[in-house]
Amino acid sequence: MEYTTQMDAARKGIVTPELKTVAKKEYMEESALMALVAQGKAVIPANKKHTCLNPEGVGSMLRTKINVNLGVSRDCTDYNVEMQKVMSAVNMGAEAIMDLSSHGNTQPFRLKLTSECPAMIGTVPVYDSVIHYQRDLETLTARDFIDVVRLHAEDGVDFVTLHCGITKKTIEQIKQHKRKMNIVSRGGSLVFAWMSMTGNENPFYEYYDEILDICEKYDVTISLGDACRPGCLADATDVCQIEELVRLGELTKRAWAHNVQVMVEGPGHVPLDQIAANMKVQQTICMGAPFYVLGPLVTDIAPGYDHITSAIGGAVAAMNGAAFLCYVTPAEHLALPNVEDVKQGIIASRIAAHAADIAKGIPHARDIDDRMADARRALDWEAQFACAIDPDTARSIRNSRKPEDDHSDTCSMCGKFCSVRSMNKALAGEKIDIL
Ligand code: SF4
Repeated sequence: MEYTTQMDAARKGIVTPELKTVAKKEYMEESALMALVAQGKAVIPANKKHTCLNPEGVGSMLRTKINVNLGVSRDCTDYNVEMQKVMSAVNMGAEAIMDLSSHGNTQPFRLKLTSECPAMIGTVPVYDSVIHYQRDLETLTARDFIDVVRLHAEDGVDFVTLHCGITKKTIEQIKQHKRKMNIVSRGGSLVFAWMSMTGNENPFYEYYDEILDICEKYDVTISLGDACRPGCLADATDVCQIEELVRLGELTKRAWAHNVQVMVEGPGHVPLDQIAANMKVQQTICMGAPFYVLGPLVTDIAPGYDHITSAIGGAVAAMNGAAFLCYVTPAEHLALPNVEDVKQGIIASRIAAHAADIAKGIPHARDIDDRMADARRALDWEAQFACAIDPDTARSIRNSRKPEDDHSDTCSMCGKFCSVRSMNKALAGEKIDIL
């Protein structure tokens, strides 16, 4: 092969099959996309071993992508059931699946994903380290952690979240700064705990060059984890978050020097008025590397509805430069999401991503809205369902509350006062019969 990673290929002017596919999906000239990938402003996470991948690009100039977290856990141990959830998430529009498996032997499910699932597959190797070795966290060595990164790369994972940005200095800062929610990142808290217990430097930071070699070999995109992402509004945009972001900017530069593709993970819980500034700061410090946001949740008080708080934040974030939204379900902060929670989370994220794409003027993003408007004006219900983000729900609501006259082309919202029908008739010179 004449290239190592998608970034290396783009820098050499090689049009890879993956770049060709993504350019087509994004209605973009191959040369324009190639320039973005070469500069690191767009990534195409595509592990060479994930041969069934239907590649996607991630970048602020591209359509906003969404990620769904799934995986085998103590409460859901059946690979086939979890795989069904994965495929239904893909059918509902998820472009990426993060396998956060936290129970048993995680490798068979990971291999099932990279051999059967066409979506980008991401993992958080530090979660898997304890489970993989079946040893307590403090007994693991830096080598153990790096070997799990290698294992995931060999298994065909397209992107890995690595919490490389916290260092011994962060431990002091967290202790002195007295955040309300300390560290809420699961991976970040594990790295922090290991560092606290062993007194060692963060292995993902200390052995970053070795990780880059692994990622370059398999073309694994690094998703630089934000261990210090704010876990409540009071901690947003504080010293810990920004200090880590500065280090993530340095690590981005080092990855690019190895032709390794990078995304940068972001907040968290952020007040609405701080989101645009957060996106700007990230884009400046990380030189335009795609921003992968976990929310942001715009209020802390809506457990049960955090798919909505995050969709509000996600839409504003994506409109201001975020490229990739991690879904949040109604079960966030409360429990493991069930099938219905997963669906609600995906729909909410897709609405946020789509709203942002329209605002950003992504080519053809609004076409389907225009088709919906035409269908509504024509009172063509089947055409409306075809355009709907969740056709089943739209159809079942209409069918459960039909107008009294079952043959009416209106709905029971306004019945005979239907403005659409009145206007259609008025403009056609027809009589409008209300009573
Ligand atoms: S009845 Fe009202 S809500 Fe229903 S289609 Fe007509 S205008 Fe729209």
